Amino acid sequence: RGDSTEPLIPFAQPGNLTRVYAVASGKGGVGKSTVTVNLAASLAARGLSVGVLDADIYGHSVPRMLGSTIRPTQVEQMIIPPVAHDVKVISIAQFTSGNAPVVWRGPMLHRALQQFLADVFWGDLDVLLMDLPPGTGDVAISIGQLIPTAEILVVTTPQQAAAEVAERAGAIALQTRQKIAGVVENMSWFETPDGQRMELFGSGGGETVAANLTRAVGAEVPLLGQIPLDPQVREDGDEGTPIVLTQPESAPAKAFSSLADSF
Ligand code: ADP
Repeated sequence: RGDSTEPLIPFAQPGNLTRVYAVASGKGGVGKSTVTVNLAASLAARGLSVGVLDADIYGHSVPRMLGSTIRPTQVEQMIIPPVAHDVKVISIAQFTSGNAPVVWRGPMLHRALQQFLADVFWGDLDVLLMDLPPGTGDVAISIGQLIPTAEILVVTTPQQAAAEVAERAGAIALQTRQKIAGVVENMSWFETPDGQRMELFGSGGGETVAANLTRAVGAEVPLLGQIPLDPQVREDGDEGTPIVLTQPESAPAKAFSSLADSF
């Protein structure tokens, strides 16, 4: 960079081998954090070294979903991330007290992210997943500036209205010139006990987003996976152990696991 006052972000250095993904969505509640933690746990269970940076400052639910209740420790100038289910976890939630809302403006957020990326002792990660706040906000732009090689993973539901906003989140990558790794459709269907698939949120959202982003960026953006709706996904998230670990043979866990195959 040539600017010695800028903290050094290991993931942005030439030759760094960590694959960095920013998980984005157009709106909240589509399962962005759920996808992040299940993907992380799935990759870690395969023996990869995985970190999750919860940058969803308004939603920060990653620590809860991974059952991580302890705070990071500090050694000299480095922040040591707690580990949950073999995943290193850093979240804004660990640095705030209780449930106090975080009202941070762009520049402060940018600095916080910079610190999480530069001052946390992540070690040699194979994969770093960043859970972004929903929408096309400051954080996505910051990530683009801090780690230009970070790829975007777009999470949407099958609903066409959700697909439109998800596309806008993906289109940020055009501005920041980041690669879009692909699209994940969550809550794709609910399977009844007699094996019927009910498409509670419609269908086609994931395909639409993938096709439209492909056109927008002029490069193939694949639909990487479809995750069914299953109450167990939420229950396990609430309990702090992702379903890929509690019930690896369940339909959603298999869907997350085949999603992990593409990483
Ligand atoms: P976001 O990060 O996009 O705001 P979350 O991951 O917090 O969304 O998910 C919102 C809620 O939906 C959570 O309670 C979560 O447990 C639940 N959820 C997410 N995906 C599924 C799914 N496939 N099946 C059932 N519940 C889900």
